[in-house]
Amino acid sequence: MKLARYEVGGRIAYGRLEPDGTVRRLCASPFDSLEVSGTVDRAGEVHLLAPVEAPRVIGVGLNYVSHIKESRLETPAIPMLFMKHPSTVIGPDQPIVYPQGARQVEYEGELAAVMGRRTRHVSEGQALEAVLGYTCANDVSDRITQRAEMKMGCLLMGKSYDTFCPLGPVIATGLDPTSLELQTRLNGELRQDISTADLLFSVARLVAYLSTAMTLWPGDVLLTGTPAGVGPLSPGDLVEIEISGIGTLRNPVVADGNGAASISRSKTHLK
Ligand code: MG
Repeated sequence: MKLARYEVGGRIAYGRLEPDGTVRRLCASPFDSLEVSGTVDRAGEVHLLAPVEAPRVIGVGLNYVSHIKESRLETPAIPMLFMKHPSTVIGPDQPIVYPQGARQVEYEGELAAVMGRRTRHVSEGQALEAVLGYTCANDVSDRITQRAEMKMGCLLMGKSYDTFCPLGPVIATGLDPTSLELQTRLNGELRQDISTADLLFSVARLVAYLSTAMTLWPGDVLLTGTPAGVGPLSPGDLVEIEISGIGTLRNPVVADGNGAASISRSKTHLK
């Protein structure tokens, strides 16, 4: 099942994407119920949004075995975790804003898991039952700030400029996160190409590990790390991240001040 969050006729709704391109509206948020209503929205009337509104976003670094080998870095003994601020999150086709004065902003194509229920102390064997589904993510990073922060043993700003976490286009349920194909294209050119079978810490292991310390909430987003092939972005670029069973997340890059609005939390919600 593919779940979309979208704007239609001035309101925000959640729906189930049908094979014919229409969207059958849900009765509530997918974190409450997957029951569908009788309302069907046509594709042309629907504007897709980030599949979760201003979520907490937890990221993990150095999590693809081939990427670790290629980087000649030590294999992490525990997941290397960080957070991205909720104002980083944008949806499909929304512009990534290239910050003024930035010199090395890079894309990172990633599989994201979206939590479906409150979770604490879950076993690795049961962790995936707490995941609602999966979406594509771009963990956009300002490397100059990131490196300066990491030298001091912290990481927030380099990962948290507004618009630095495109998510979408939908949350796909029922997928096996250990065998998905992920591709990133920059201006149509293939840059990243990997199977999630290469993940060092699986989604199940990451969820179980996180849940030993913190309560995970419905809607929390877990970015699972990026494979080899990261590279720089420039204003005017188009980044596409495609994952089998989910779809393609497309975002243009624009210079700051070039028509990009600041991120605001929507006050409307599904009814
Ligand atoms: Mg990343």
